Amino acid sequence: MKEDCVFCQIVRGEKPASIVYEDEETLAFMDINQGVKGHLLIIPKEHYVDITDITPEAAAAVARTSVQVAPALKRALNADGISVWQANGWAAGQRVFHYHVHLFPRFAGDGLPLHKSKMASREELDRIAELIRKHL
Ligand code: 5GP
Ligand code: ZN
Repeated sequence: MKEDCVFCQIVRGEKPASIVYEDEETLAFMDINQGVKGHLLIIPKEHYVDITDITPEAAAAVARTSVQVAPALKRALNADGISVWQANGWAAGQRVFHYHVHLFPRFAGDGLPLHKSKMASREELDRIAELIRKHL
């Protein structure tokens, strides 16, 4: 655990998050920016910086959770597809240095507005998280 890491703070319950799925090793929750409605993140509960730091076991646990959550995300949002994205290092676009995988629903011709600056409200995040949970 890293004191000043926002994702560690979410794991510890010190920072609010709209949780979609949780098991012993991983957590799936809504990304605070919903440039694409349904954008969610999957993290290991332990703090690893990126793909060069994470253990194969922890990465496998995140992959298992991705496979579990993705069909629910697709059903919940009635999406045409799902994109999986994972950035390592500033140059690759990583901004939170706790390993995470992005899942976001895709729609034909959606144009990928990924990092919109407008933050979603907690109510909106909770509502979408609940919708996806119902499809797990
Ligand atoms: P990166 O660019 O590092 O791959 O992605 C970091 C993601 O974390 C971004 O999509 C950003 O919106 C999201 N994010 C940053 N801070 C928080 C937060 O406090 N809560 C949640 N739920 N998401 C966050
Ligand atoms: Zn962390």
